[in-house]
This record gives sequence, structure tokens and C-alpha cells, in this order.
Amino acid sequence: MNRDVPRTNKLNHPDPKGLTRPYGRFFLPGPVEVRPEVLAAQLQPMTGHRGPDVQAFIGELQAGLKDAFRTERPVFIVPCSGTGLMEAAIRNGASNRVLSLVNGAFSKRFSSIASHCGLEVDEVAIPWGEAQDPDRVAAALSVKKYDAVTVAHSETSTGVLNDLQTLSEVVHQHAGTLLLVDSVSGAAGAELQTDSWGLDFVLTGGQKAFSIPPGVSFGVASNSMIERAKEVGGRGYYFDLVRYSENIEKLQTPTTPALSTLFALQVQLRLMAKETMEGRWVRHQKMAERTWAWVEEMRSSGVQLKVVAAEGHRSPTVTAVQVPDGVSAPSIVDAVKERGWVIGGGYGKLKPTTFRIGHMGEHTLDELEELLSVLAEVLS
Ligand SMILES: *Cc1c(COP(=O)(O)O)cnc(C)c1O
Repeated sequence: MNRDVPRTNKLNHPDPKGLTRPYGRFFLPGPVEVRPEVLAAQLQPMTGHRGPDVQAFIGELQAGLKDAFRTERPVFIVPCSGTGLMEAAIRNGASNRVLSLVNGAFSKRFSSIASHCGLEVDEVAIPWGEAQDPDRVAAALSVKKYDAVTVAHSETSTGVLNDLQTLSEVVHQHAGTLLLVDSVSGAAGAELQTDSWGLDFVLTGGQKAFSIPPGVSFGVASNSMIERAKEVGGRGYYFDLVRYSENIEKLQTPTTPALSTLFALQVQLRLMAKETMEGRWVRHQKMAERTWAWVEEMRSSGVQLKVVAAEGHRSPTVTAVQVPDGVSAPSIVDAVKERGWVIGGGYGKLKPTTFRIGHMGEHTLDELEELLSVLAEVLS
């Protein structure tokens, strides 16, 4: 057998389900389109996960990840989906009572995770589509003492962006209360300043604005978060952030890393460094603004679409669009798919009435423009 030739090469094998579709047409709000060279980076042979070579490799990843999070602290690299690190946030950050800021499906998930971990949970639950009001959060915090507050930075179900900087100021009026942030669809797409905004734990998943294949998540913990974790009893083993912290100091991971996905991350971080993080934030903002403007154009031409997120509080990475009365949103998603493009369906209770455009990751304004014209055709 010739060892150089793989016996099958699925990558070149046309797939009837469209898995070999042209690049740049996949606007799902996660997982997102991954560049071919980043996908190809996964085809490297395995290596052991201890030793100087791997430490150099993890060291390179650290530099890019710290830039993405705007932090001087180490960035944990964890083999799990984003939800795993949401659970880590809860298990390490709180032992009694949590205040969950809920304005969509993912922020609700954060609250549910805290309940499932046996904590007492209060919610500041506001209508989906609105952003959290810092005054309301301040009022809730003045009633009881909370170990931690949970929030979604970019609420992917509605396309709302919460103001982390102001919320952090409000939370930190209360000594001993930590701010735990789900930035799964924020990091590497929306501006995020972990250190200067004083965020205690920020987590993200690789398959959203980071644009790598799913399977790896990243988290940054403040000193207070690690100190809290040390005091929390029963914080578990796999997601023990104290252990993660000790390991990453030595550029190691506590368990086997998801090597192939990290090979992809290495190439992706190099591409991201070329663009710069500021450049990435600007590109995402432009794609978002173009999407909102398109919704207005459609309205003027008689198609009553509506951006779900309140004006002034919209995420640069994802837009949820409400369809006109009597129109089925899933049928629009299907019609777009028949034309060779992918958008997201509505999430949770918004499924029948909305579709979502994930203008995040590596997409360009040109690709977005093409998608919007396909959508306009479907809607007219
Ligand atoms: C996608 C997403 C999650 C869940 O991430 P998984 O990787 O599917 O576990 C959580 N929060 C937000 C805001 C998301 O967009």
C-alpha cells in the first residue's frame, strides 16, 4: 500500500447534501464558514501533547488569543463547546446565589445551567429584542447579595448586544459579586475589552466569530474569579479553572487538547493578526449596518421586515429579522437553501417568525450583498 495516498479523500468527494458547496455562502450564526486553508490545517499528523514543541505551539496560540480578548491574562483552551464553559463559569464562580440577566435563549440557558448546578437563581428577565438596562440591574443587585451575575454579550437568538462596560461598572459596585460573560457570538467579531472593562470570566466558542471548526472553547478568568474558584466546594474536575490556570502557566492543558482543531486555530490566528482585531470589529460592524439598511430598503419596497434587536443595541455579528405577518420564516430559510445559500432559522420561541443572518467570521461585504439579493428575490 502506498502510504502517501489516502484510501479515500472525502474532501474531494462530491457530496449530494451540498457539503462541497462553494465557499462564502454559509451565513449560519454558528458554526460559521471556515476558510479552506484553515480546514486544511487540520490534516496534520498527531503529536504528543506534552513537551517543548507543544509548549511553543500553545505559546503561539496564547499570543493571538490574548489579543482577541484584549487581556494580559492567560486564555484557557478547553475541548468543549461554548456551553461547557458556561457551566465552568457557574461551577467556579458561584456557590450560593446568582443573578442571571435574561433577554433571549442563550442568556436563559446561562440561568438554567446555574439552576441545574443547584444554585439559587434570580433573573432580570426582559422582553427578547431588548438590551439589559444597567439601572434595572443595579436595582436588582441592591436587594440581595449575589455571588455572580451572568450575561450574554451578543445574544445570538435576537441579535442584541449588551453593554458590558456599563454592566461591569454596575456589578462591581458590589464587592464579592463577579460578572460572568458569555461572549460566544461576540469575541473576535464585536469589540471586547476583557481587562479594561473588568470582566471576571469571559468565554467563547471557536465556531462563531473565531471561524474555526467546532470543538474548542476559550475562557479568561480574572484574579478574583480564580480566588473564588479556590473557595467553591465541589467545583468538579473537568472544568476546574484552578487546574486550567496552573496548567496554562506552563503552556499546558490538563487533558488531551483537540489538536486538529488547534492546528486550524493556529492558521486562523495568523490570518486574524494580519487583519488586526480592530479591523475585524470594523468589518463586522459594516456587515451589520448593511444588513439593517437592507431591512429598511425592503420595508420601503413593501416587504414588512423588522430587525428584532432594538436600535442602538444591535450586535455586529448576527441579525435576527422578523418576517411579515402570515409569512413562515422556516419557508424562507428553505427557499434560500434551494438557491445554494444558508441562513439561520429563528431560535427558540422566535423560530416561526424570524430568520437569522450570521454576518460573522470571515464573510465580506460582497458576499453579504450577494446573500441579501438572493433573500430579496425569495421575499418578493
Ligand atoms: C452558540 C452559542 C452558545 C452555545 O454554544 P455551543 O458551542 O453550541 O455550546 C452559547 N451562547 C451564545 C451566545 C451562543 O451564540
